[in-house]
Amino acid sequence: MTKYIFITGGVVSSLGKGIVGASLGKLLRSKGFTVAIQKFDPYINVDPGTMSPFQHGEVFVTDDGAETDLDLGHYERFIDANFSQLSSVTSGSVYQTVINKERRGDYLGGTVQVIPHITNEIKSRIAKAQKQFKPDFQIIEIGGTIGDIEGLPFIESIRQFKAEVGIGNAINIHCTLLPYLPTSGELKTKPSQHSVNVLRSHGLNPEILVCRTAKPIPKTEKEKLALFCSVAKEAVIECRDMKSIYEVPLALEEQNFANVVLKLLQTPERASNLDSWKDLVNRITHPEKTIKIAIAGKYTKLSDAYISVVESIKHAGYEHSAKTEIKWINSEDCVDVAQCKELLKDVDGVVIPGGFGIRGVEGKLNVIRYARENNLPFLGICLGMQCAVTEFARNVAGLKGANSTEFDEHSPHPVVDLMLDQKNVKGYGGTMRLGAYDCQVKKGSKAHEAYGSTKISERHRHRYEVNTEYIEQLKKAGLVFSGMSPDGMLSEIVEIPQLDWFVACQFHPEFKSRPEKPHPLFRGLITAAIKQKES
Ligand code: GLN
Repeated sequence: MTKYIFITGGVVSSLGKGIVGASLGKLLRSKGFTVAIQKFDPYINVDPGTMSPFQHGEVFVTDDGAETDLDLGHYERFIDANFSQLSSVTSGSVYQTVINKERRGDYLGGTVQVIPHITNEIKSRIAKAQKQFKPDFQIIEIGGTIGDIEGLPFIESIRQFKAEVGIGNAINIHCTLLPYLPTSGELKTKPSQHSVNVLRSHGLNPEILVCRTAKPIPKTEKEKLALFCSVAKEAVIECRDMKSIYEVPLALEEQNFANVVLKLLQTPERASNLDSWKDLVNRITHPEKTIKIAIAGKYTKLSDAYISVVESIKHAGYEHSAKTEIKWINSEDCVDVAQCKELLKDVDGVVIPGGFGIRGVEGKLNVIRYARENNLPFLGICLGMQCAVTEFARNVAGLKGANSTEFDEHSPHPVVDLMLDQKNVKGYGGTMRLGAYDCQVKKGSKAHEAYGSTKISERHRHRYEVNTEYIEQLKKAGLVFSGMSPDGMLSEIVEIPQLDWFVACQFHPEFKSRPEKPHPLFRGLITAAIKQKES
């Protein structure tokens, strides 16, 4: 029977509820349980796919093509599992379903209301995910902060759900912040008490408090929190700021966090096996070398916009006990060739991640040219591959004015063009080529060596593709098409075999990297960067 763990947040936003949930997932997995997760987001967008990365950070894509919140990325990385579109629930998608039913006449005669119609739909989403994953534990994180008007239908649904499944089958972990006042040298518990009161006013009692804090919580303050918030003393868990997010599961385990959860959910305790994770954390916290990798993109002011790319780079570094320093380069600053050279001269490798729109594209082309001409290890992702093909077409294959039709509709050489089935698409929500597709890898290529396989599956999120009409010309000029869709129609990976690592892919490898299993293409990049630095 599945047990349910709801995670709410209070006091402030950006507390790291996602990391707490992901860490709990990791701990439960390490005890041999199966875990599924869901993220509830109270905003009205049907999914975050249409939101600017500046507003909401990265859009994480699942195998089945859902465009979801970046927290899902943390969950997949910590738990090492693949989740689905049922893992992501927004107010927008819930209301859309209910309104569609109303228009169809499903509620004929009835007044459609938040309670019970919206809350029933929310509860049915919990049930659907349970049916798909049949996990031992289902972790459900509610985005936003308790007290937000938008979050109320979700909170009410949890209240109903907990009452329906009964004591011992569902718990609520409430995450709060303990601010530190330097003048009095104290951690303050009052904001946490208040946020628990707000939670209670909606009929929900937390069973566990996870308190984010910069300092250790004194025993007296833990006791105070337990008393005022009606939780057991052992259920007041400290969550200190850590150097690496991957340390969090271990810090929580030291306080017996997962066993406290098991006890509350009337499940017998189990020993955990965290040896390999401990080994990972040891490599993270005791690096033997450092390398510097540049990310040249457009959303560099908000690192969350590329969070999976950053994590993937780090994962590949961990394997070598290397600490990877990220150098953020705004591609617009690379439009000037001299400045581009200056910015790249101290890095060991460069990544051009995905993106949309023309801003900074010419700068990206300069970055790629520099990498190609100077044998600087390079990985291009999605738009990064489209730019690599454009750069190669212009400067190696001699196709003057080559471009993607996303940036120049009248280019004499549209080497990147809209896919046929995209030409008639209207509207922006969920209309791209999304989710996992198989790819055939060319024997003997760098990509083949990296993957150790000729058959792979990777996740996509784009509208444009390399124009098939130019493949022969580009091949003749030396570009190797090392990954193709199984029907041979779509270019998925290109590379220049003479260089140490110059590989670009149309898909997003960053969605499949795990801390203990770095993605082959990132591993290729980092291995080449380290080799060059050490020779
Ligand atoms: N803008 C490009 C496209 O739509 C690339 C998208 C991306 O990098 N995710 O194809």
